[in-house]
Amino acid sequence: MIRDFYDIDLSGRNSFHVRQRAARLVEFETTDDLTAFFRKGAPAKWTVLAGGNNILFTQDFDGVLLTPRAASIDVVAETPDAVAETPDAVAVRAEAGVEWDDLVAWAVERDLWGIENLSLIPGKVGAAPVQNIGAYGAEAKDAIESVEMFCTDTCNTLILSREHCAFGYRESVFKHALRGRVVITAVTFRLSRRPRPDLGYGDLLRETEARGGATLRNIREAVCAIRRSKLPDTAVLGNAGSFFKNPVVEAAVAERLRTDYPALPLYPAAKGRMKLAAGWLIEQAGMKGHREGCVGVHDRQALVLVNYGGATGSEVLALAHKVQEAVRAKFGVEIAAEVNVL
Ligand SMILES: Cc1cc2nc3c(=O)[nH]c(=O)nc-3n(C[C@H](O)[C@H](O)[C@H](O)COP(=O)(O)OP(=O)(O)OC[C@H]3O[C@@H](n4cnc5c(N)ncnc54)[C@H](O)[C@@H]3O)c2cc1C
Repeated sequence: MIRDFYDIDLSGRNSFHVRQRAARLVEFETTDDLTAFFRKGAPAKWTVLAGGNNILFTQDFDGVLLTPRAASIDVVAETPDAVAETPDAVAVRAEAGVEWDDLVAWAVERDLWGIENLSLIPGKVGAAPVQNIGAYGAEAKDAIESVEMFCTDTCNTLILSREHCAFGYRESVFKHALRGRVVITAVTFRLSRRPRPDLGYGDLLRETEARGGATLRNIREAVCAIRRSKLPDTAVLGNAGSFFKNPVVEAAVAERLRTDYPALPLYPAAKGRMKLAAGWLIEQAGMKGHREGCVGVHDRQALVLVNYGGATGSEVLALAHKVQEAVRAKFGVEIAAEVNVL
């Protein structure tokens, strides 16, 4: 069923809580709804607005926003053919409108391993493949089997296997070649009945042991506790989590920076390159805790830009540019936005 809204206030539909409006917003449930919508001809301007936790509206949106509502979770196969070599695998299909953390809680309750490190990431399941959400050493791509998508040109539904999603660090084909051409309607995950604790990141091992050891529930609780202690609650302070991605640079650039700044944190990345910690760069550039009117760089987490109340999207964007400029001036490094700016 389609629910149509015209000239709608978006402040309750984006985690920055900026007060922009959309000319039209369509909530849909089924692919039949999407077919009915796109058969009439695609609107000149449209995009998907799911939970709005990774979008910054800098102006009113003069097109159509599509919001998925379908929210069922089903076990579709135990030891599916595609993963027959891993007999403990369970394939779980979740529709795009499922709240991501509800899926994690569902899996943990059923003793299914694979997405517990991604506990408490806000947003919907359909958005998870778009930027290949990641946290605490895990990424959605590690558990995604395939992605179902509605192609808006043909009104067909296609299933894309993980190998064809071009997943990378906060990257996928959905941000590039398929951007604006598909709507993700469901995602199938390959979870595991066999324990697969991955506690190598940050404080996770300590926090899990403090709860009695590496059970699924303890890991989930530990991740939730760490996240709550480090990230501002969007219900209290508008934000979109990390505003910037960690920059990935050539090894020679990283070495040169390390010579100048011996404390610079460096992590190996794909193709022999190195990942720098954007939060550290921002802090060293003097921007952590920096505030301008209603917007600021969070004082405990320099990657997070916040709306202290009443900020416009353009004010947030102006601050983002200032932070990028400060990092560029001090280190000669570009930090790109992770948040989708509209
Ligand atoms: C407090 C906080 C903490 C966060 N922590 C993390 C973190 O640890 N790791 C991490 O990776 N991210 C994190 N994020 C970012 C955010 O949670 C993720 O990007 C999440 O996947 C966004 O989901 P959403 O439903 O809100 O998507 P939206 O913000 O609505 O959309 C994000 C993008 O995906 C597209 N999109 C969404 N759904 C679909 C669909 N069905 N089909 C096609 N395109 C679609 C949208 O058009 C948009 O371009 C955090 C955000 C906040 C606010």
